Amino acid sequence: MADPIQEKRVGEMQGPFPLKKDIIEAVVLPKPPGIFLLFNGIYSSPKYVGRADRNLAKALKTWIGKYHFFKFDFCASPEGAFLRECSLYHHFAGSRHLENGSHPQRPPNFNWRCPVCKIFE
Ligand SMILES: [Zn+2]
Repeated sequence: MADPIQEKRVGEMQGPFPLKKDIIEAVVLPKPPGIFLLFNGIYSSPKYVGRADRNLAKALKTWIGKYHFFKFDFCASPEGAFLRECSLYHHFAGSRHLENGSHPQRPPNFNWRCPVCKIFE
């Protein structure tokens, strides 16, 4: 079920890095929108997919202690981050496999659509 385009996108992410404050501050710029994956083990499959519309480093710090490793990538816009987050969410089998409780959400007042499913149609 692996699709080569999504595999490539996952592979292009930076990391894995230990999910620790000093590491996050060293490798993640605070400002741009971005997406991230969280892991329990360095070689295990991701347990959580997330995005940050503004401060990626701050968003990652909220997960310290809950997961042990992260991968991340910056995105050109919040919409780009949303689309990529959705793609990753579905790529890793959504809430059937991930600890995300639900499908990625849009910010209020935006009508972006998931590129994979029809949840927002
Ligand atoms: Zn979807």
